[in-house]
Amino acid sequence: MKILVISDVHSNLTALEAVIQSAGAVDAVWCLGDLVGYGPDPNECIDTLRQLPGFICVKGNHDSAVSGNKNIEQFNDEAGSAILLTRQMVTPENMEYLRNLPETLITAKFTLAHGSPRNPVWEYIIDSHSALANMEFIETPYALVGHSHLPIMFTRDHHTDRPRRSYLIPGKQIVMNSNGIFNPGSVGQPRDNDPRASYGIIDYEAMTWEIFRAEYDIRAVQNRIFKAGLPIKQAMRLAEGW
Ligand code: ZN
Repeated sequence: MKILVISDVHSNLTALEAVIQSAGAVDAVWCLGDLVGYGPDPNECIDTLRQLPGFICVKGNHDSAVSGNKNIEQFNDEAGSAILLTRQMVTPENMEYLRNLPETLITAKFTLAHGSPRNPVWEYIIDSHSALANMEFIETPYALVGHSHLPIMFTRDHHTDRPRRSYLIPGKQIVMNSNGIFNPGSVGQPRDNDPRASYGIIDYEAMTWEIFRAEYDIRAVQNRIFKAGLPIKQAMRLAEGW
């Protein structure tokens, strides 16, 4: 079974379509949240995602902010204004879909969360301290998370028994033979200075994990961001991948 793992699509339909095409036929698609926010195509992304085979998805902080009626003071000005604009764009049906997304999903071997298993919507796992706390929290061998927009993984170091952080580049297949936390990077807004859309593939029989990157037409997305009146910064950052 081949599973496509994606996160942080952030209303970027062109990047999402490039990833779907690049991944080819898959048996299931697991999404780690933040379908919306920042980008110009929230409804198109939600509609496309929901039609994918075996699609399951957890709720991200942007999904929560867009579909909730709480204030948005946790967000900086530009993320906040994108959230307010997204609220106006999203159809009532898609708003309901975002609102009803679960915060975590647990399969036989994987815990799925946007931020972290213990604080699913908000916590970032970017250092070994937060990785260790979450490894001790989960009851499955593996966790899949997004939120940092970085294609990184944390696995147990056999000598120290502490989590070790690795940044993953395309073409390096990892055998998942020790407990670990895996992040596929971001489809719609990569932040590792590589502007290509990032995603992960699990081969469930071989238990392998691999990161892939897909090029897409960034200029087209930038033009739609300008047209929608979204913050210009959200367009500029796509070209540089931050
Ligand atoms: Zn995000």
